[in-house]
Amino acid sequence: MADHWVDGFGRTIDYVRISVTDRCDFRCVYCMAENMRFLPRQRVLTLEEIYRSARLFVANGVKKIRLTGGEPLVRKGIVDLCENISAIDGLRELVMTTNGSQLDKYAVPLAQAGVKRLNISLDSLQADRFRALTRTGDLQQVLRGIAAARDAGFESIKLNSVIIGGQNDDEILELAAFAVDNGLDLTFIEEMPMGQVGRSRANSLFTSEQVRELLEQRYSLLPSPENSGGPARYMRLQNQPQTRIGFISPHSNNFCATCNRVRLTVEGKLLLCLGNEHDLDIKALLRRYPLDDQPLIAAVCKALRYKPERHEFSADGEVQILRFMNASGG
Ligand code: SAM
Ligand code: SF4
Repeated sequence: MADHWVDGFGRTIDYVRISVTDRCDFRCVYCMAENMRFLPRQRVLTLEEIYRSARLFVANGVKKIRLTGGEPLVRKGIVDLCENISAIDGLRELVMTTNGSQLDKYAVPLAQAGVKRLNISLDSLQADRFRALTRTGDLQQVLRGIAAARDAGFESIKLNSVIIGGQNDDEILELAAFAVDNGLDLTFIEEMPMGQVGRSRANSLFTSEQVRELLEQRYSLLPSPENSGGPARYMRLQNQPQTRIGFISPHSNNFCATCNRVRLTVEGKLLLCLGNEHDLDIKALLRRYPLDDQPLIAAVCKALRYKPERHEFSADGEVQILRFMNASGG
């Protein structure tokens, strides 16, 4: 058995993001269409299949697993799944990305189940706009969730804000002030061209560079040595040591050379790159070989040779990837 996975470009793969459901209580305008049809249950990995996949990943050198979705907290049994995965020998950390709508109920159970860190999406601090961007979300509910997460003792909490030109770019300073006031990290994300969401993205790209220029009106940004091995570049704010500001810039910054991750989609496809359609059908192998991991391990090793050198997003914002973000482990 290999003790770690290396792709065809020499990159060690030690981080897997798993989409545990395509369902969500929100319908964010950049992520989903208004009328989404979700997958029937038999096409989605069972909790046991997710756990088996996680064990297999960790046995092959994966150190970090992120559960995401869809909204992971709408999946029944999610806390037990977290408890089982976090107990896998050799896993360094289990983390989660959530929209925060149910954290007032789940923050403490998740922390007790071994989830170390949370990313919480927050694109606006204005209730009407928050509703418009999420189509269904209640800002106060999410703010209560963030407060509950702060009290629950996670190692760190990071906010994620997707900035869309003409929609929330005027809130960048307020979002940063909220992060500072609450001692949280904050990452600004450029919108990616994933799935037909029912609006054109052609003229709304707001780049990380533009975000930075706006932040510099209020804060002195300092270079930061931190690097998660991932796509975010970090900066620190002078005199605010508790807050790091990250930028995820798929359009303007190509981070592929240090990519250390793959994704397991809600349908059990191992996606080698978010910006590309290559995948391996893990679910079919899990179901064909219920008691034998070897064929799966061999298939993953082979598939990793096809992990592309770089993603293929272009700057015009038009869809190149037909998958929606909620199914991809975004
Ligand atoms: N429901 C959870 C949430 O919203 O945090 C987890 C899943 S969501 C797909 C994961 C992250 O992807 C969120 O931070 C969301 O803002 C981001 N996202 C979704 N669609 C995106 C897009 N088209 N471009 C950039 N980020 C996107
Ligand atoms: Fe749901 Fe997250 Fe997508 Fe928003 S970004 S619709 S909260 S999965």
